[in-house]
Amino acid sequence: MDNPFFLVWDTPFGMPPFDRIRPEHFPAAFDRGMDEQRAEIAAIVAAPVPAGFADTIEALERSGRLLDRASRVFFNLDASDTSPALEEIARDYAPKLAQHQMGVALDPGLYARVADLHARRGELALAEDQLRLLDRHHLRLVRAGALLGPEEKARMAALSARLATLHTLFGQNVLHDECEWRLVLEEADLDGLPGFARAAAAQAAEERGLGGRYVVTLARSSIEPFLTFSARRDLRRAAHQAWTARGTHAGAADNTPLIREIMALRAEQARLLGYDNFAAYRLDDSMAKTDAAVERLLLQVWEPAKKKARAERAALEEIARAEGLNESIEPWDWRYYAEQVRRARYDLDEAEVKPYFALDNMVEAAFDTAERLFGLSFTARPDLPAYHPDVRVWEVRDREASHVGLFLHDNFARPGKRSGAWSSRYRDQQSFDGPVAPIVVNNNNFAKSDAAGGAPTLLSFDDARTLFHEFGHGLHALLSRVRYPSQSGTAVRRDFVEFPSQIFEHWMSAPENLRRYARHCQTGEPMPEPLLRRLLAARTFNEGFATVEYTASALLDLELHRDPQPESLDADRFEREFLQRYEVPREIGLRHRPAHFQHLFAGGGYAAGYYAYLWAEVLDADGFAAFTEADDLFDPALAGRLKDIYSAGDTRDPMALYRAFRGREPQVAALLAQRGLAGMA
Ligand SMILES: [Zn+2]
Repeated sequence: MDNPFFLVWDTPFGMPPFDRIRPEHFPAAFDRGMDEQRAEIAAIVAAPVPAGFADTIEALERSGRLLDRASRVFFNLDASDTSPALEEIARDYAPKLAQHQMGVALDPGLYARVADLHARRGELALAEDQLRLLDRHHLRLVRAGALLGPEEKARMAALSARLATLHTLFGQNVLHDECEWRLVLEEADLDGLPGFARAAAAQAAEERGLGGRYVVTLARSSIEPFLTFSARRDLRRAAHQAWTARGTHAGAADNTPLIREIMALRAEQARLLGYDNFAAYRLDDSMAKTDAAVERLLLQVWEPAKKKARAERAALEEIARAEGLNESIEPWDWRYYAEQVRRARYDLDEAEVKPYFALDNMVEAAFDTAERLFGLSFTARPDLPAYHPDVRVWEVRDREASHVGLFLHDNFARPGKRSGAWSSRYRDQQSFDGPVAPIVVNNNNFAKSDAAGGAPTLLSFDDARTLFHEFGHGLHALLSRVRYPSQSGTAVRRDFVEFPSQIFEHWMSAPENLRRYARHCQTGEPMPEPLLRRLLAARTFNEGFATVEYTASALLDLELHRDPQPESLDADRFEREFLQRYEVPREIGLRHRPAHFQHLFAGGGYAAGYYAYLWAEVLDADGFAAFTEADDLFDPALAGRLKDIYSAGDTRDPMALYRAFRGREPQVAALLAQRGLAGMA
């Protein structure tokens, strides 16, 4: 009876009572939550005919609240701060929850009511958001298999349950490999590493009980600086090989067989629903609509990016030869020599830049930008405890000082935390049964500085961009002003959801804002103008590398999911042949190899959808240009129209939202310019 999920939370702003939630509370909450929702669906099905919007669609929106509350806490904790107990529950309940969701989606009585309403939608006098909500629910049920016969429905549900298990195992295997490996170094092994990288490695060692030594881990924020600065080619090679081998080791944590099974099950689902392959199925419900449209965009940058990367490699080789390397540049050399070129050509040293990107200052910068653009203010609430001492809690208010929501910032890498960066919610904004304020979390994996020494955590320019990116997703959830929960905030199409996050990055990197925000962590002085100019001059340097690395992974995703018969897929061979066919530069390779490509296989969300970042970049580059054209990064009229996009959630078609903001459809020119690819074709 002390299960917090069965009690009303009397915490401020509905914050989950983390101090009272224990792993064993989740199974009981899931079980009761599923029972409750089944009863709610049965009541909808049994309601009088003809179906009404309120007793069907609104009742559906209202259903499953206990399950939703428990699931959000569970999956957020499992991603940010997992434990063997949570991992076991995830393996146990992932298929049960998937089966439950399919049971709801494939209920014939429910579909009959929704379909009947949908057929009469013109006569129901619905508001625009309600009409779209009805459309979306109808489409969701059809895409889940509501039109199939009983046997095929059962097969669809079984496939979903098995996929949920495979996704869970895939992510756990990657985390396993990341926790297994570490490079333990002595003082003598630190050649080339600047102070901030040493401090982070010392802190990582401290946290692992290896005080006095230095540890490099497979977290991007740990290994990338190591590959960038370590003068020890042997160690760089060992680290890079461990990094790119995640998920490939034979044994219990091998992801290779999981990939084949996931791909086969997805293809079977697509075929059952009448599509040639999974990509066709997935893209049918996206802004892009077809794989041909996705391919067209990816190929528009692919050859220009390779051309730029070739020029970059030539510069790397020149400096490497001068330093005495008589072999070709290998993947574990690229970042190291790129840093040398950056230093020589632009007189830019990352160690000189980083003190201007202290974490706390950049968080303040993100908050300040949100205030200037959208009128939000952030107040620290250390009195509201979160799930881990590293997490900072902020209360968000609007211009009228009304409560908007809570924002949780979980910035540091640690064991038990998934790698990468992401934004999520403990609660979504909605207003239809009275106002509900959102509770939003941003996760990053920054390397913590030597906390005992009191040194501030310093970010790279890219880290700072990531911070702004996730914060952009956070704002999308915080600024949401919708009626229905399933339309809230980030519940938009996958290739549109990166627009609010990516456009927000521009407020970090714009010269005007760098002058304002990039201040030295000790002196508070703004970045000296010559250094700033050199930083800006180097902005598109190495964009060939970054674009190749990303686009190769996006093309691989598309090719994989276009395969109509992946039952005999050999992931290794597929990867090798892909690299050859597209002539992917071997010294660059893929940003994510299949065996640790969590976007594709630790869940279904970005499967046949990794292109979404580039798709949205067309919009964000073009959209931000509106502010530079207005010669005011905080132009009130533009900011107001941008806020409309953040507030709209999924209540309107994304292209209609964009046109209302920009006054026209997006153009690709700004994207090519910002990656330094214009004129490279
Ligand atoms: Zn994102």
